[in-house]
Amino acid sequence: MSKSFIGKVAVITGGTTGIGRATAIAFAKEGVKVVVSGRREAEGAATVDLIENVGGMATFVRCDVTKEADLEALIARTVEIYGRLDFAFNNAGIEEPPCLVTERKEEDIRRILDTNVLGVILSLKHELPAILKSGGGAIVNNSSVAGLIGMRGVVTYNASKHAVIGITKSVALDYARKGVRINAVCPGGIASEMLERLAPTPEHQAQFASMHPAGRIGTPEEVASAVVYLCSPAASFITGHAFPIDGGFTTQ
Ligand code: NDP
Repeated sequence: MSKSFIGKVAVITGGTTGIGRATAIAFAKEGVKVVVSGRREAEGAATVDLIENVGGMATFVRCDVTKEADLEALIARTVEIYGRLDFAFNNAGIEEPPCLVTERKEEDIRRILDTNVLGVILSLKHELPAILKSGGGAIVNNSSVAGLIGMRGVVTYNASKHAVIGITKSVALDYARKGVRINAVCPGGIASEMLERLAPTPEHQAQFASMHPAGRIGTPEEVASAVVYLCSPAASFITGHAFPIDGGFTTQ
């Protein structure tokens, strides 16, 4: 446990499963109080239980990132419960089953952009004033390797994750002299419910693994440790950066 994290407070969007849950646990192990959010209450409560089991402190607040009123209430509730906000991990996101752009339905395109792009902008809008009030802090947005390179068959997801990096850079510039660092992580294939939906069979998963020079997919914990690092004083001169955590995927 690092002394620099004691007494600090983090909010995590999409903390009910996968990378968000692992990051909530990683923050809590460092002594950070965590507000876990998402739409599914049972999974959110399960994340809180896992944190309490390792001696951490956490609360679940239901929040749909496509709804500004939910985000406003999430931050207000965080400050009400824990008195401050220091870190945020804007992680909530949804995938897109592969097909050509010509087959896409407008409602599906809008749903992905609303969650992965609008959700991150609205999260930042409400997190930043609270973090400034606490004297500064750090934010990490979850992009993807799909934010760094082109990917066939996932036009909306690919666009949305490039957008997350653009959002990160723009807001990092605006807040660089105000004491808030804003970075993005760009995971490769990570074992989660999302990957299970995209690669449901062992054959699919082996194919995903073989696309990574490391010869395997990553774990949610491997992303979580990078997020915690980017929020720590060890990363004090890093802002506006898009950090691949991809077993070499984007190096090829
Ligand atoms: P999961 O499906 O396990 O997690 C997705 C999380 O996002 C859930 O907690 C879900 O919570 C939340 N979420 C989705 N829509 C909303 C919404 N409208 N409002 C609030 N929360 C929402 O998958 P991962 O852990 O893999 O995904 C997390 C992030 O990582 C995503 O942004 C994804 O794009 C990114 N990523 C994942 C990779 C992978 O290979 N797994 C690779 C690169 C990036 P709930 O349903 O309870 O609302």
